Amino acid sequence: MADAITLPGFVNAHSHTFQRALRGRAGGGDFWAWRELMLAEAERQTPESVRELYTPAYAEMRRAGYTAVGEFHYLGVGEARAAAAAAAEAGVELVLLLAAYARGGLPRMRQSSPAEYLAQLESLRDDGLRVGLAPHSVRACPRDWLDEIGRYAASQGLPLHIHACEQPREIEECLAEHGCRPIELLARTGCLGPHATVVHATHADGSELDLLAESSTTVCACPTTEADLADGFLPAARIEYRGIPLCIGSDSNVRIDPLEELRELEGIARRQTGKRGVFSTNSLLRFGANEGARALGLGSWPEIEVDPGHDALRGVAPADVLDALVSSCSADVVSRA
Ligand SMILES: [Zn+2]
Repeated sequence: MADAITLPGFVNAHSHTFQRALRGRAGGGDFWAWRELMLAEAERQTPESVRELYTPAYAEMRRAGYTAVGEFHYLGVGEARAAAAAAAEAGVELVLLLAAYARGGLPRMRQSSPAEYLAQLESLRDDGLRVGLAPHSVRACPRDWLDEIGRYAASQGLPLHIHACEQPREIEECLAEHGCRPIELLARTGCLGPHATVVHATHADGSELDLLAESSTTVCACPTTEADLADGFLPAARIEYRGIPLCIGSDSNVRIDPLEELRELEGIARRQTGKRGVFSTNSLLRFGANEGARALGLGSWPEIEVDPGHDALRGVAPADVLDALVSSCSADVVSRA
């Protein structure tokens, strides 16, 4: 029997774990119709329900090979502590990306000021949680919030994650309010940099992609969710051309399979360019693991083992196994710990 293959664990850099509850019952309409269902699900959550729902979801992530998770969290501080307890029980490393939310959404998501937000963040940090700053989006955070949160993240050396350019409407609203596009606003408010991650960037234009490249900002792509929510295609080949760092997230958790996310990145790039092998297998595996860890500020995270005797790998020459892993396998090739 062939020896198990050891790899760095996959890193899920963007998860809203409560959205796992929506699978199978949130079809139809568009992103904004889905968002109404999502908000109703968010409104129902309590620390108890988070603990109950997140523990098996994190365990499922762990079995799929994700050994670290960035939880982009906007359900409240008690629920954040419950998410951390669930991750500990399931055996995944957690970075709690606490969302700052000034306007829109639900009352439970909002803080009254950046000062209140930063106090919440520091209370979680005092509990020993690994944290990052997560101004939700340019929809949810006005310019002065972005300025203050950007400054704080840089001064503390903490990761900063923010959704941007997921849907065309968000870009139109940003242009109307600020006279610039979302990633341009992030550049002007100190929210880009090597410690910063822009989630999605689906509709980022060339000048926005240039800003990401110049500032060494990471893009977190969530292709299975972006497909499910009718967001659009990641500008994968243009990101590759500019050398913008990439990582992956399971986001709404409509699917929990890092290999599927990585395969989608390459699949999108192939459909866009008419070429195969836009990303090398090594690059894709690095996006799935090391780049995600870096985006979360994680220095170490558990490894995984892959079973080369799995049906999906039977007959594959040893030299081709990693390529086959990304092109042809699902997460069930990861050995159960
Ligand atoms: Zn998200």
